[in-house]
Amino acid sequence: MNLAPTELHEAPPRSVDLIIIGAGIAGTASAFYAARAGLQVLVVERRAEIASLTTAAATGAFRLQHDNVDEYALVREGLDLYLDFAARTGLDGWDLGVRQQGYLFCTRTEGSAEHARELVALQRGFGLTDVELLSGEEVRARWPYLAPEINQARYRAGDGFIDQIALARGYATAASHAARIPDALPGGGARFLMNAEIVGFARGGGGAITGVQIRCGESTYDVAAGYTLIAAGPWSGHVAALASLELPIAPTIRQKLIIPELPVIDQQGPMTIDDETGSHWRPALRGCYALRTDPATPAGEPLLEVPTDPAYAHALLDPASPSTLANLAPFWRTVWSEGPPAWSLAAGQYEYTPDHRPLIGGSGQAGLFVNTGYSGHGVMCSAGGARRAIDLLLGRANHAEEPFRVGRPMVDRARDVL
Ligand SMILES: Cc1cc2nc3c(=O)[nH]c(=O)nc-3n(C[C@H](O)[C@H](O)[C@H](O)COP(=O)(O)OP(=O)(O)OC[C@H]3O[C@@H](n4cnc5c(N)ncnc54)[C@H](O)[C@@H]3O)c2cc1C
Repeated sequence: MNLAPTELHEAPPRSVDLIIIGAGIAGTASAFYAARAGLQVLVVERRAEIASLTTAAATGAFRLQHDNVDEYALVREGLDLYLDFAARTGLDGWDLGVRQQGYLFCTRTEGSAEHARELVALQRGFGLTDVELLSGEEVRARWPYLAPEINQARYRAGDGFIDQIALARGYATAASHAARIPDALPGGGARFLMNAEIVGFARGGGGAITGVQIRCGESTYDVAAGYTLIAAGPWSGHVAALASLELPIAPTIRQKLIIPELPVIDQQGPMTIDDETGSHWRPALRGCYALRTDPATPAGEPLLEVPTDPAYAHALLDPASPSTLANLAPFWRTVWSEGPPAWSLAAGQYEYTPDHRPLIGGSGQAGLFVNTGYSGHGVMCSAGGARRAIDLLLGRANHAEEPFRVGRPMVDRARDVL
């Protein structure tokens, strides 16, 4: 497939149906659903490449194992698309690298095992019936390299990994060539204006948002639009403030340890998670990605370049660390004692909301919509969230019935392990 997203290399049009701010996974997915609905879309991205900020840092993992039915529904909708992406977008042969190798959440204490059993019962209640509860012996019978201390695990074989850059570029390409989308309404399409920053909003007589100001090099452009959608990831609060809109988004640094070429990692194995500490790894690059959410990491300002810290790698690799991966599998001790493998770090910012669920739909200001705040789940939720955002924007769905609406009551939620 040699199609690509359509990039604009001249001044933007004076007016479009929809302006999307940000070309990460949320912005590109929104462009896809909007173009499919027949809208002419301009996506404005500050960076030189699509999906190059938070989306680039992601682990690319997806799971239906969630603790609430609404987020489960978002991922379920996405999975239906990801498994049939080429046909549903009209991009013949487009490969998202989907690998359904499972998510394995392991416990080592009876308290966590009890909690896991309650969670599986809850999931069965909302229709997720294929999560297996495995005893420690059953876990080691399937993955003999796992630690004797693991007393139980919950496992869903259909969870797995996806190439999130291929997904974002796929959304953007399909949006750019919307006539190829089998169920598209006529007239839709998207263009991408790169290296261009939204610096302000325009308002009409009644106060409605009627467009944006864009800075692009030395030039500034006014572009009018019936709808404007904020999909600026960790920057969404900052962008919303330009319209005097307050969005509860707390950017929080999250790092990814990349260890290529580590033969001891089972490349067919699952995402393997320590439910006690949140430390986990997934096979990648003939080695793995390894991560942990440190609940003590404070929120901060959105960043253009997100710094990494070698101490993060040591906290996962050093067997003396409480969050060591050696708690899950003894081979990590050997990896450490033989000399730490060649590794590197990448980092992005989780765009946490207080209840760790996204903000989707109307902003409370006419003409202004949001699709953001995925709190670390933006890749897996991208299709479901964007489809809802566009349905709400077009009045095909009711704001009051949207569980992820802006302005909903939010209960602060303790950090998930992932
Ligand atoms: C280490 C790590 C691992 C993760 N792993 C997973 C995972 O396994 N699965 C999963 O589902 N999620 C994962 N996530 C979360 C996921 O990456 C994010 O939820 C998702 O990428 C957010 O996408 P986005 O489009 O909202 O934001 P971004 O990808 O940040 O895109 C927003 C874009 O808006 C642009 N922008 C900002 N301000 C402006 C402006 N004023 N004008 C123009 N453009 C602007 C930015 O340049 C950026 O490109 C992970 C995140 C991290 C950090």
